[in-house]
Amino acid sequence: MRKRTLLLTITLPVVMGGVVLSLATACWVGRERSSPTLTPTLTSIAAMVTATPVPTATAWPTPSATLPAPALFTGRKVLAGLQPETYVTDACQYLRERWDAQSSAPGTVVVPVMFHTVFEGVAYRPGETYIPAVDLQRTVEAAKRLGFETITAAQLADFLEHNMRIPPRSMIWILDDRHPDMLDKYFLPIAREQGWTMTLGWIVGDTDHRKGLWKQVEGWSAKGYVDVQSHGYAHYYVADDSPDALVRQELFGPVALLEQHFGYRPIAFVWPGGDVTARSVQLAREAGYRLGFTVFARGPLMYNWVPLGQAERAIGDPLMVLPRFWARPDLPDKLQEAARLGDAAAAQSFRDFAQEAEYYRLMCGCELPVPSGSE
Ligand SMILES: [Zn+2]
Repeated sequence: MRKRTLLLTITLPVVMGGVVLSLATACWVGRERSSPTLTPTLTSIAAMVTATPVPTATAWPTPSATLPAPALFTGRKVLAGLQPETYVTDACQYLRERWDAQSSAPGTVVVPVMFHTVFEGVAYRPGETYIPAVDLQRTVEAAKRLGFETITAAQLADFLEHNMRIPPRSMIWILDDRHPDMLDKYFLPIAREQGWTMTLGWIVGDTDHRKGLWKQVEGWSAKGYVDVQSHGYAHYYVADDSPDALVRQELFGPVALLEQHFGYRPIAFVWPGGDVTARSVQLAREAGYRLGFTVFARGPLMYNWVPLGQAERAIGDPLMVLPRFWARPDLPDKLQEAARLGDAAAAQSFRDFAQEAEYYRLMCGCELPVPSGSE
């Protein structure tokens, strides 16, 4: 089987020679960048490796790798047509975050789901956005059986950006639009019983005019049942010919309002209708969003591994066009498949560890910590 390799740029700057040497003596920086046990030097190196943009090509030469870059997970049996995209461009950062003992374990997987409404006593009709109540309950049971838990948008962003630790089998349940009745009747009881959090793709524009609605959602948020994120100001569908002012209002408009009502800035934008353009993604980044969600059901997510279709890939910013599974009766199967995918990815990463450690030693000047899950 031919391994697909990551398209990674190896940045080992000449000007970093001294730094690399000093890294070699204590080069495992770890995840706790603000930990008081870290020396200032190590903290600044961590910051430089992960956050500082490469200044110029001449100051930061990029020698070509003599070893193949780390392989992407390619388990054919469980991929089933998924087309994963990577986005971490620095191989050393990727390997360090992948194997850091405080990071998410290899094979950690996230299932994002899009919900709208729940109906009782009706069968599911393909293409519809409601899920029969009985299937919602089956999904909860399957998730519990398989060990899935929900995470918030911030947890997902930290995981996707830096492999920060989350439960090895995670889900993010996103309820689009505004269905306080559905929340009250179906989703909040689940949140209470399971200790889960429902992520809301909330439309803010006219919430002021709906008596008591802000207060109701603020109450749920204070209890941790909901994580309110942005679904636009007026639920405007962006298109290539959308005026910038309109797109800006959709993206920037909700920020201050949500912050005012919930005490934090939204970091996820749920694209109304799933429609997205390169320009709108650029503006979303400007507005401070770290994640965006479409309505395409492409597959589960892993660190530096986002399945996309051609349209989303063309946008060039995978984290802003994340896929979501639809709330359908086959959700329990999707959870089962995601669990299998995670297990296969974990198995492959432990098989690849020696090769990746060798790569890290030669190209990054450091030793990877031996993972506890391997010999
Ligand atoms: Zn919507």
